Parts: sequence; structure tokens; C-alpha cells
Amino acid sequence: MVKGRGASTDLESLLRETPEEITQYLLSSGRMAMILLDRKGVILDCNAFFLESVGLTDKPVGQSINTFLREGLQAGWDCVHGDCRPVKLTFTLNGPLEYSLSGHILNIHGHYLLFAHTVRLTDHEMVATLSRLTDELTDLTRQLNKKNRELEAANKTITRLMNTDPLTGLTNRRQLKEKMDVELSKAKRHGHPLSALMTDIDHFKSINDTYGHAAGDAVLVGVASILRQTCRKEDIVARYGGEEFVILLPDSPVAAALDCAERIRKAIEGSEFPEIDRKVTVSLGATVFMPTDTEDSFIERADAALYEAKESGRNRVVLK
Ligand code: GH3
Ligand code: MG
Ligand code: MG
Repeated sequence: MVKGRGASTDLESLLRETPEEITQYLLSSGRMAMILLDRKGVILDCNAFFLESVGLTDKPVGQSINTFLREGLQAGWDCVHGDCRPVKLTFTLNGPLEYSLSGHILNIHGHYLLFAHTVRLTDHEMVATLSRLTDELTDLTRQLNKKNRELEAANKTITRLMNTDPLTGLTNRRQLKEKMDVELSKAKRHGHPLSALMTDIDHFKSINDTYGHAAGDAVLVGVASILRQTCRKEDIVARYGGEEFVILLPDSPVAAALDCAERIRKAIEGSEFPEIDRKVTVSLGATVFMPTDTEDSFIERADAALYEAKESGRNRVVLK
């Protein structure tokens, strides 16, 4: 900073009194680019702001300024002592970028001080940089869109896995609950008939014990496939647990539910399961939704009907 050494009353006397401090200030911390040239245009020195603005790390001392200029110094730049000329120079310095410096050249006893108050990328470079940025942005947007699509696909896979029983591919109990909420409120709101079948494979433990767990799994997959084929597209077929399945039949009054249950029972009884050499049968409990029902009371009634089917001899349908 400029330290006072006496009572200076104008700029000129101040500069004369404190040239070192001012020079130091301008060279180190000013917001003005400065380059000192000899009369041939060779760079003698420059300040930190210039280096910083154009991205140079070392002072290009000893080199002609013309090696950095797109068009060289204009004729008449080497003005006489005390003269000050406006200049506008285009520098091509570090890499492909161009900078334009607008300022003045001042002749001080045969040394030329170039000081520029504006250092910026040239218009040409601005356009090139903008277009490069636009390209990069387009590229990033494309990559982002791709990632979003991958994320969407991954989310779909996660949702499918969350909602599906891995062995049979049927709706699992978690999703059954969600679908049941929807069907129950439809039935309540619009009075549409809704039925449920609770299905359980008969003596399944003995299938496992006799033929092994893998054969048991194959029977579960086979039964699930028969259930899916025997029911309508709009019916919800879910694995409720172990060897139990729940089937929700929207828009199905009691006769339709019993009909469906009987078709299932017969289809399974009449199917061959290649992994085992015995017949597979199922017992079914059927019920129809009543306006006073909750989800639990609805399913519990179907379960009670299934229990009766088991108790009364298996391989049969009981309605409750
Ligand atoms: P019931 O006629 O009274 O239904 O008799 P059950 O033998 O079918 O019934 P129980 O509840 O005694 O046995 C069901 C068996 O189902 C026991 C269990 O080990 C088997 N199980 C449950 N889940 C699976 C599975 O994912 N794969 C296989 N292989 N077996 C399973
Ligand atoms: Mg069983
Ligand atoms: Mg069971």
C-alpha cells in the first residue's frame, strides 16, 4: 500500500514520492494486466494479473510479444517518451484460446509499458467455447437420459421382484394386499360382486417327504401354472404362503366362484406332474364378499371354508 511520506497534494507529486510502492502495487495486486517491452517489442516483465488472466504459469520474458499476437503490434506503437497510445491486442497464448487485451501503451524513457484494463476471451473464442460447451451439454444430456432409462428399467425390475413370488412367478402376498385394497373398495363403492378362493395342496408334506423338496417345488410351479391358465386374466392369483394360494375373482357372484373353484379342482386332479408318480389334489374354500366385511373377515371366511374342505375329506370345494 501507499505509505504517506509527507503532505502530497496531487497525484503527480504522490507518484514521484512513492514510485516503488505504487509499482509494487500495480505489479502484484492490481486488477490491470501489465507487460513491459523494450523498443523492439521484447517482453521484459509482466505482472501476475496478466499471467493469471491468460493462464500462463511462467513469465514469457525474452520473447517478442509478436510471437503471441494474432496480428502483431500495430505500426506506430512505439510512441515517444511520455506518449500514451490506446491499443487492442489479440493474444494466442495457452492452448487454443484467444484473449483480447484492451488498454494503452505508455513510453517511459524508451521502455514501453502496456497496461490493459480489459482481458477477455475474444468473441470468436466465446462462440467456439459456447459451442463446445453446448456440445458437452448435449452429450451430458444424452448420457443422463440413458442413465434415467436404465434407472427406470432397474426400478421396474425392483418393483416386479418386490411384487412377485420368485418360485412360481405369481403375485406375492405383499402385492395381493395392495390389489385386495383396490378390489374391496371397488366392491364396496359400486356393489360389484367379489369372490375369493383359498386353495391348499393336499398332503403336500408327503410329496416333499417322498420325492424331495425339488420335486415339491416343481409341483408348486405346476399348480401355479394351472391356476393361472384356469382363471381369467382379470382374476388375481397369488401365492399366499407355502402351498396355499388365494384367488380373487372380481365381478364374480357365488355361482361363478364355485364354477371356477370346481374347474381348478378338476384341472389339478386331472394333471400329470412328471416329477412325481402320484396324483395331486387341492382343497378349496370359496366365499363372496359382503358389505360388512373387512379384508381380514373376508379372507378368514375363505380360510374357514378351506378348513371344512380339508376336514370333510380333501379334494373338494366348500362354500361359506
Ligand atoms: P394338508 O392336506 O392338510 O394341507 O397337508 P399338507 O401336508 O399339505 O400340509 P402341511 O401344512 O402339513 O405341510 C405343508 C408343507 O409344505 C410343509 C412345508 O415344508 C412345505 N412347503 C412350504 N413351502 C414350500 C416350498 O416352497 N417348497 C417346497 N418344496 N415345500 C414347501
Ligand atoms: Mg396342504
Ligand atoms: Mg397349508
